[in-house]
Amino acid sequence: MLVSATEMLKKAVAGKYAVGQFNINNLEWTKAILQTAQENNSPVILGVSEGAGKYMTGFKTVAAMVKAMIGELNITVPVALHLDHGTYEGCYKCIDAGFSSVMFDGSHLPIEENIAKTSELVEVCHKKGISIEAEVGSIGGEEDGVVGAGEIADPEECKKIADLGVDFLAAGIGNIHGKYPENWKGLDFDALAKTKELIGDLPLVLHGGTGIPADMIQTAISLGVAKINVNTECQLYFQEATRKYIEEGKDLQGKGFDPRKLLAPGTEAIKVIVKEKMELFGSIDKA
Ligand SMILES: [Zn+2]
Repeated sequence: MLVSATEMLKKAVAGKYAVGQFNINNLEWTKAILQTAQENNSPVILGVSEGAGKYMTGFKTVAAMVKAMIGELNITVPVALHLDHGTYEGCYKCIDAGFSSVMFDGSHLPIEENIAKTSELVEVCHKKGISIEAEVGSIGGEEDGVVGAGEIADPEECKKIADLGVDFLAAGIGNIHGKYPENWKGLDFDALAKTKELIGDLPLVLHGGTGIPADMIQTAISLGVAKINVNTECQLYFQEATRKYIEEGKDLQGKGFDPRKLLAPGTEAIKVIVKEKMELFGSIDKA
């Protein structure tokens, strides 16, 4: 069932668990994540970056595939199709394409411009029953080989953006995208607690879920994080399983070259890591 992410995240805040956002890249990824959600009776958010949208030939293709797959696979758990780190133009494209949720990432903009564009998008999205995420304090990560520390969002700025009516908010608390460096300082729970105090029950989003230790994830959830984004970890699991298949020479045996066989171990590996994350986040049987 394709729905906005608003209700599932409100329920998550109330129930003190988090819903995973797993980014999709193709049919195998989408199928693996939807089936795992259904098998575990868990709500789920499918994340699509602008790059992945382009790769899949456009947001309309993505929305059509996801909607058809939900029907064909009889997926009854709540599924949100969400634009990840959207530009202003990207948000409009996804709204038109039939996404049920978008993130407008205005974190790199001056705060006044971030506020103006976020307010406009909140109105447009809510008229159509689409949920919207905003971001304050840019989330670090590797860009062109330089690993930046995650910025800590100013709780007052978070409150300003929260008051615009967004449905959930990504606040940087030292989290970063991709693999975490050896000398990472960990999440800033003081900043998270301060933000939570100001914004009340608005669900918070933790980006860069790959490699954050389980105890930190659980503390973050106890402090109001209700959506956790996982991307790199699925890629690493897919890569490892695919590499193993080829290194063991299985693609050279019989019809092992068939793409449906070649991609099967990676697809199964995604199911394993998605289930593990659902267990850690506490979303199993919360559909
Ligand atoms: Zn992110």
